[in-house]
Amino acid sequence: PTSSPKYRRVLLKLSGEGLMGDQQYGLDTDTVERIAGEVKSVYDMGVQVCLVIGAGNIFRGMSAAATKIERATADYMGMLATVMNALAMQSLLESLGVPTRVQSAIPMTTVCEPYIRRRAVRHLEKGRIVIFAAGTGNPYFTTDTAAALRAVEMNCDALLKGTQVDGVYSADPKKDPDAVRYDTLSYQEVLSQNLRVMDASAIALSRENELPILVFSIHKEGAFADVVRGEGHCTIIE
Ligand code: UDP
Repeated sequence: PTSSPKYRRVLLKLSGEGLMGDQQYGLDTDTVERIAGEVKSVYDMGVQVCLVIGAGNIFRGMSAAATKIERATADYMGMLATVMNALAMQSLLESLGVPTRVQSAIPMTTVCEPYIRRRAVRHLEKGRIVIFAAGTGNPYFTTDTAAALRAVEMNCDALLKGTQVDGVYSADPKKDPDAVRYDTLSYQEVLSQNLRVMDASAIALSRENELPILVFSIHKEGAFADVVRGEGHCTIIE
C-alpha cells in the first residue's frame, strides 16, 4: 500500500532541457508524454499540482544564438519559448485525461489565459493543473525564480525541481567523478557554496518564505510521486 502524500499543493519546476529526450534541441513528445504520466500519478493522489517549465531546449536569453540581440529582447524570446513548452505539456496532460489551464505572465489571450493569481488558485481547488508560462514576465529573470515566485504566491507546501540528476552535487556529476551528493542543504549553504541548483534570487525568495526545495531526477520512474509522499530520493533544501 502506498502512503498518503506529505504535501497538499506543490509546484514542479522542469527545465526545458528535460523535455529534449536524446535530441540536442526542441521537444521530444515521447519524453513530454512520459513526464505528463509522472505528473498524472501525483495528480491522481489528490495533490494539487502547479507547473513551471523553462525553455533551455528552445531559446535562452544568454545563449550564443542571442549575442547579436539586445539582452532584454532575447529574454522576451526565451519567455515566449516557455509558452510553447507549456502548450505541449498541456496537450499531453489532457490526452491522459488531466484537466489543465495555461496562464501566461505575458498576456496572449487567444492562446491561453493571462496570469491572474486568484483565478489560478480557483483552478487548483477545482482539480485542474495550472501551468505557469512566460516565466515572471520580466527580462533578466529565469524560470527558476518564476517557479519560486509562483510557488509562494500559490501557497505551495514545497517547490520540487525535477532535474537531469538525482539531487544537488558539489560539482557536475557527469563531468567530475569526485562530485559529492548532498541529502540536505540549508539555503545559506547553497548560496555561499554557489551550488548550481537554482539561481540566487530563487533561493533567496524561498528562504524568505520558508519554502522547502526538493531536487530529484525527473527521469527516474515514480520519483516525483515518491518525493511527494516524503519517501523519495532527493536533496532537500530548507
Ligand atoms: N526568461 C526571462 N524572464 C523570466 C523567465 C525566463 O527573461 O522570468 C527568459 C530568459 O532569457 C531565459 C529563458 O527565458 O534564458 C528560458 O528560461 P530558463 O533559462 O530559465 O529555462 P530553463 O533553463 O529552465 O530551461
